[in-house]
Amino acid sequence: MYKYDDAYNQQIEQSQSMFRVWKNIPAPVRGEMIREFGNVLREQKESIAQAITHSMYKTIRESRGEVQEVIDMCDFAVGLSRQLYGLTMPSERPDHRLQELWLPLGVVGVITAFNFPCAVWGWNFCLAAICGDTVVWKPSDKSKGVAELMQSSWAEACDRQGKVHFVDVSVVLDDSVHTGIAMCEDPRVSLVSATGSVRMGKEVAKSVGARLGKTLLELGGNNSAIVSEKADLDLAVKGCVFGAVGTTGQRCTSLRRAFVHKSIYKAFVAKMIVAYKTIKIGDPVDENVLIGPLIDEGAYYTMNFSIDRIRAEGGKIVYGGTRLNIEGDDRVYVTPCIATAREHLTVMGEETFAPILYVVPYDDLSVALEMANSVRQGLSSCIFTDSMMEAELFLRESYTGLVNINAGTSGAEIGGAFGGEKDTGGGRESGSDAWKNYMRRATSTVNFSGMLPLAQGITFV
Ligand code: NAD
Repeated sequence: MYKYDDAYNQQIEQSQSMFRVWKNIPAPVRGEMIREFGNVLREQKESIAQAITHSMYKTIRESRGEVQEVIDMCDFAVGLSRQLYGLTMPSERPDHRLQELWLPLGVVGVITAFNFPCAVWGWNFCLAAICGDTVVWKPSDKSKGVAELMQSSWAEACDRQGKVHFVDVSVVLDDSVHTGIAMCEDPRVSLVSATGSVRMGKEVAKSVGARLGKTLLELGGNNSAIVSEKADLDLAVKGCVFGAVGTTGQRCTSLRRAFVHKSIYKAFVAKMIVAYKTIKIGDPVDENVLIGPLIDEGAYYTMNFSIDRIRAEGGKIVYGGTRLNIEGDDRVYVTPCIATAREHLTVMGEETFAPILYVVPYDDLSVALEMANSVRQGLSSCIFTDSMMEAELFLRESYTGLVNINAGTSGAEIGGAFGGEKDTGGGRESGSDAWKNYMRRATSTVNFSGMLPLAQGITFV
């Protein structure tokens, strides 16, 4: 018996008993359930998007994109349900077969951050489910209501397939931090997939590591763009604007640092300011609004704290960074901020989860790369350049999990593996072969020789 409360225990036991059934359902049949889930989400896309916008104030355009991401994951997972391939290797022994089997892991615990209230769970759930796992989800306490909606969409999919008993493949837990902590300590949870700050990831890694459990960590970013003198400047400005202010600077992939060649530095800053001035800030349900409120007062406090540090370290605020009052709306609106500095400031080493963009000039690409790589996080980076040589050098040297040429740091597609290096946690989710995280690998030797030859030619009589 574990030290957890009754409600938590009951939910984990529910998930465990569902796992014993679900793991034996053929993967393509599991895929059919996910196909139906995708159909339900297509029908409910608008209502879920509205719920996201109301819960954490992402603009309605971006919320629709977030639901679409889960729908895309469903499609991807359905195809994958027939492709959970294991390798077969030639055996050194006669009449032996050597093969890798990929088998379901068990109960997968998913902890999510406030800024993606359904997409990141979708990455995990769709893959874990087709792999034969069951999922318990601890959502963020800052984006309420979305988890329950996803659960009811899944229940609807089960109902339409005449398989209501499969509803427990997904279980939504209480959203308190204590539940997340319990899940990390709980050996009944085979894998903890956690998305959030580096601070949280370090606690999760320590706690799950103490019981030698598996983790999949998707943590903070501190993403950078290099804008070369060989770039299409207007394209670079467009890419940097969306990266820096999209989701009010509250994306793990938000652009935080721009290193701009000194020959175009002034023009870049001027064009960025012009672009920032045209962006509509306001109620995120308004179709024309591009910047909604910050999540809460705490986020505003952190933003202000960083702005004070920028000034104290010799940087300049050249645009924004102020509170904006909108009549009849008590949420926390800010003007996005552009700060300039002659060198990489200490404050730039940290992820401030708000729309602050640091712009620093460089004169040599190797110096720009060094500054870009100088932080502890390693999620996303990009270069704007028309030079093939610069682009190739960047792809090799930029130490991040996502590396883009002439495309901004944020807005990844689900087909690629998503995640980052260093303090970002090393996890990879969504596309490519990320499904392997949700399975255990068993190497099998089958001997059909009728004799017992040993490997490495060892004789034992
Ligand atoms: P957070 O770290 O405050 O919380 C994230 C989740 O972890 C929440 O559900 C929270 O309740 C839970 N939690 C906190 N402490 C815990 C503990 N000790 N044990 C178990 N669970 C715990 O992050 P946030 O403010 O919700 O989100 C913003 C952060 O998330 C940013 O750093 C951002 O970069 C990161 N993020 C990363 C990715 C990615 O894919 N790399 C995606 C989205 C957000």
